[in-house]
Amino acid sequence: MRLVNGRIWVKRKLIEGDIVIDEDQGIITYLGKDSHHITYEAPYDLKGKIVVPSLIDIHCHLRDFQESHKETFESGANAAAAGGYTHLFDMPNKFPPVNSKIMVEKISDKIKKISSCIITPYILLNSKTERPLIYEYPYIKAYMGYTTGNCLTTQEELKEFLLKSSTFLSIHCEDNETIANNKKRFKDSLENHCEIRGSETELRSLEKVKWLLNDLNLQKHPHIAHVTLEKSIKLISKLNLTFEVTPHHLLLNTDDYKKLGIWGKMNPPLRPKEDQLKLLKLFLEGFIPVIATDHAPHTMVEKEVQQLSGVPGLETSLSTILNTLQPLTPEKINLIVEAFSLNPRKLMNINSTSKLQQGEVADLTIIDPNLKTNVKGELLHTKCKWSPWEGQELQGWPVMTIHNGIITHSII
Ligand SMILES: [Zn+2]
Repeated sequence: MRLVNGRIWVKRKLIEGDIVIDEDQGIITYLGKDSHHITYEAPYDLKGKIVVPSLIDIHCHLRDFQESHKETFESGANAAAAGGYTHLFDMPNKFPPVNSKIMVEKISDKIKKISSCIITPYILLNSKTERPLIYEYPYIKAYMGYTTGNCLTTQEELKEFLLKSSTFLSIHCEDNETIANNKKRFKDSLENHCEIRGSETELRSLEKVKWLLNDLNLQKHPHIAHVTLEKSIKLISKLNLTFEVTPHHLLLNTDDYKKLGIWGKMNPPLRPKEDQLKLLKLFLEGFIPVIATDHAPHTMVEKEVQQLSGVPGLETSLSTILNTLQPLTPEKINLIVEAFSLNPRKLMNINSTSKLQQGEVADLTIIDPNLKTNVKGELLHTKCKWSPWEGQELQGWPVMTIHNGIITHSII
């Protein structure tokens, strides 16, 4: 495969040139100014589109099993390819939950047929999870507040894990006691969702993690999922922990929630505009290391009738950020590549390369920074077929995704 006239992200700069990929070996065999002398193969003319290392999502919910009507590994993988992703880390709050070797094997069995991206499951941290699996498996998720799947992790379970293990642990920080107290103050309704799970639920939960780490005098550095507040980031930085932020918390706020209603309901919920703008400012200043989608599909009927929390995001995440950062400067492209691709790779210890160079695995995403398209739920690959960005015109889209030298998605 030959890609010509691209702007290729090499050593934090965009260089104009061509890429030749050996599709059998899945590697880049040439990257340089002109590939004519390498092969006469008919090329894809990229016409100045931007080529970056492929995207990695460290937090999504691919459902399947008893929730195959919402999403399957296959439909999720298709959505991922359309969004520019080649590797997904899938959360364990499934039905049934991922808490045993048998469940991990069942997932392996389902995903071995999928070639468009790599899927790595997390397993759940709580007392029901098989031992010693919990101490051997490399990717663990703890829930400090009830959310979809009702998979709560107690303080004791978290403590025991932190004492015994050093593997990657992602924590959902929303304090259950605070949520329960808020439910006494506010009627548990769609309108009050952002108050019931208000900012203090995240901050209290983080304080509890802090006490635990200090109390145990542990030099452990768990990862904090979907952080929504500047205050949280300050606390996390003091503790030297890692964290991620979602595009919806970066770009939407409680004013949008009033308009979106159920289509903007997720956990943690959207925050007031001033908090959202602070978060976006931190991203633009380079203080947010990882953007994760928290892609959490439910059917439209489930949203309307059961008012479930969670929004899809795999296909729109990159585009919503590209659109917000227009006009794209080289510095902004660097921010995007770091948050969507380089830092997730580092954090999750992924072997696949983040370098675009000769001899490396061809895992890459091609971006058209000028393409303007309206988001249409019915055209998305996710089974849920809706989006909180429905009808919005976004400028800047992933237009081709290549995994192991094979095109997994293309609208070029
Ligand atoms: Zn999640």
